[in-house]
Amino acid sequence: MSEAGTNPPLPADQPQLPYPLSEGHAGFLDGEEVRGTSPVAPTSDLRGYHPGVFRKRARLDPSQIEDRRGRSLGRGVAVGGGGIGVVVALLLVILNLSGGGSGSTSVEETLRDLAGVTVGSGSTRSDLSHCRTGADAEKSEDCRIVAFVNSIQSYWQGQIRGYRESPTVFFTGATTTACGRATTEVGPFYCPADASVYIDLGFFQELTDRFGAAGGPLAQAYVLAHEYGHHVQDLLGILDQIGNDREGPQSAGVRSELQADCFAGVWTANAVETGYLARITDQDIADALSAAAAVGDDRIQREFQGHVNRETWTHGSSADRQHWFQTGFRSGDPRDCDTFHGSI
Ligand SMILES: [Zn+2]
Repeated sequence: MSEAGTNPPLPADQPQLPYPLSEGHAGFLDGEEVRGTSPVAPTSDLRGYHPGVFRKRARLDPSQIEDRRGRSLGRGVAVGGGGIGVVVALLLVILNLSGGGSGSTSVEETLRDLAGVTVGSGSTRSDLSHCRTGADAEKSEDCRIVAFVNSIQSYWQGQIRGYRESPTVFFTGATTTACGRATTEVGPFYCPADASVYIDLGFFQELTDRFGAAGGPLAQAYVLAHEYGHHVQDLLGILDQIGNDREGPQSAGVRSELQADCFAGVWTANAVETGYLARITDQDIADALSAAAAVGDDRIQREFQGHVNRETWTHGSSADRQHWFQTGFRSGDPRDCDTFHGSI
């Protein structure tokens, strides 16, 4: 185990386990069977949604989602880690809106203010028990997310010895996590302290409207699969080893983010085999790649601060994020997601 986090894991010469696992951490399984369900008939009249993504009769497990939408909270500061990578951009936007960040307003205060505005403005609480089958996933976004989460976790269940299911928490405005109070503005993220993925589904609209991604269901799946990639890293003991080496294009932080992108690609390659998805099309892959590019550090910096500063990168460039997603997708094997060796 490396010390001080500057030398993250991963000797490349272990044929069976790609990562040196900490005591008590999980490891990859070999050739595990994945569950399957019956084939499909596409049905959907959702606008902008191309039917046929899900197997109609796949059984969904909505208990993997905790729905906190519309719950009110007190004031708080956004804290989170391991997100998809938009917090910098959003902070910049917020600072621009509040006068370019000049004066005495700190980022934290800005966030606190913003949380104060957004908290409690959410809709009424909803219940996901109607998300029973793939057919339901074809009809509603909530159920679609349930299906993606089910598929992602089903895949990793078959790959990782000792895999522990991790819930996705839907929230609006702000919510409490074991990593601190989080607001919508931090974007989706994984909190290791409570092993949960947090997302305000409004982010998907932001991803297309503000960050310029093409959209589509697989863009959503990419975001979720990236966050579950962090959960996998958590189980494997990789997250523990990042330490403070979090900024710069070759940093351990960026390498861990690119690995999460690679894991997202690996899931995508195996998504149909989980029994939840009916097919992955070229358009789906294009949508996922578009989303990956949209949250690249260089693109976000160019868009929102007008210049690129590689030394402050936390998630990697658009090209690198696409490259590692594709690496995972082409291989379909998480062992090929070694982002910790060599030059990025
Ligand atoms: Zn991330």
